Amino acid sequence: MQKPQFNDGLLAFLKGSPTPFHAVRNMATTLAAHGFTALDEKQAWSLRPGKYYVVRNGSSIAAFVLGKNDPVNTGIRLVGAHTDSPCLKLKPRPEKLTQGYLHLGVEVYGGVLLNPWYDRDLSLAGRVTCLTADNRIANLLIDFERPIATVPSLAIHLDREANNTRSINPQNDIPPVLMRADKSESLEPILLAQVRKEHGEASLERILSFELSFYDTQAPAITGLKEDFIAGARLDNLLSCYTGLMSLLEAGTDVTSLLICNDHEEVGSASAEGAQGPFLRSVIERLLPDASTLHQVMANSLLISTDNAHGIHPNYADKHDGNHGPIINKGPVIKVNVNQRYATNSETAAYFTQLCEADKVPLQVFVTRTDMACGSTIGPLTAKEIGVRTLDVGVPTFAMHSIRELGGVDDAHYLHQALTRFFMDPGPLGAT
Ligand SMILES: [Zn+2]
Repeated sequence: MQKPQFNDGLLAFLKGSPTPFHAVRNMATTLAAHGFTALDEKQAWSLRPGKYYVVRNGSSIAAFVLGKNDPVNTGIRLVGAHTDSPCLKLKPRPEKLTQGYLHLGVEVYGGVLLNPWYDRDLSLAGRVTCLTADNRIANLLIDFERPIATVPSLAIHLDREANNTRSINPQNDIPPVLMRADKSESLEPILLAQVRKEHGEASLERILSFELSFYDTQAPAITGLKEDFIAGARLDNLLSCYTGLMSLLEAGTDVTSLLICNDHEEVGSASAEGAQGPFLRSVIERLLPDASTLHQVMANSLLISTDNAHGIHPNYADKHDGNHGPIINKGPVIKVNVNQRYATNSETAAYFTQLCEADKVPLQVFVTRTDMACGSTIGPLTAKEIGVRTLDVGVPTFAMHSIRELGGVDDAHYLHQALTRFFMDPGPLGAT
């Protein structure tokens, strides 16, 4: 796919995916439109060479092409990413009425950079679980789309030290303000009206529970005087989900390829649908029911774990090691950490280097300063779960975990080129 079309699709995916539930729904829709068959984990699978996808919890998805060639000989080309991003999630009983304002208590999901959440036009989206008139429980997605809340800053006149010493107490300072209200007004009828508006279910009885999060309504955009940048929420890590998906759509049908996008990376991945859970393993076991065959295939397979990297920031250049400062629009970044915060080793790095060179994709490498702690991602966790050789790679970005992150217009497309080539690779994957 050409870069302008690819980037337009990326912006649309970011905008239309305010939560992991929406991201997975959008990915499933795209896969179905490209001939992938939906599988249900609750049913038996009878698989023959073809294209499939399966969703768990509505927030994680695995999609695969089961190739014509025996995976014992070819291995599986695995690409991983995560669907979740740091955000503010509504508490189960969020309402607070203070000075005639309805504001809503939130939990901080993951490592949120809180300052950028002030003075934004926020909306609310996610999953509500409802009781239907015929006594069934149903999961439904909602998205208010329009700005319905804000976290106003405290004026500098009331906090003269704001630029020097300001700290944020998330319990007290962050609850978004929804509206002027009196005691008779509450959130539940507002949510119910939204469910009915989007799903037209007049027979809906009531909402039993929900998982809703706030997000910035400012649309993602291409920015910079020379249009060098992509600005938007959730680049970490919907950019990689989209890139993996577009690459899988271009994969051939001879060899077996699989894309896994997990929820809950930002909170440690330890869940039924997280990378530290059994989802991927269970999909692979159903692909390869014979245990000995499965071990053989895994030994022949390789995982490219895709998650964004920290580009070197011109205002804070000393936060990077002098020899390892990835530049935006200079290509994907191999991420290395000797303490296994990243799963890259010399073999997987070499394999990816060769892959990129074959397609003239520029490549960079990141290792953190030796006096700073290193982040982590799904790579090491997935490698631990299924025992596969793994590479951690990602595009360079600024402002990771901000409400508006910044990436480059070239890098996601470079990564797309490399992943597409990976999905087409007849093997062997890595050293022989
Ligand atoms: Zn990430």
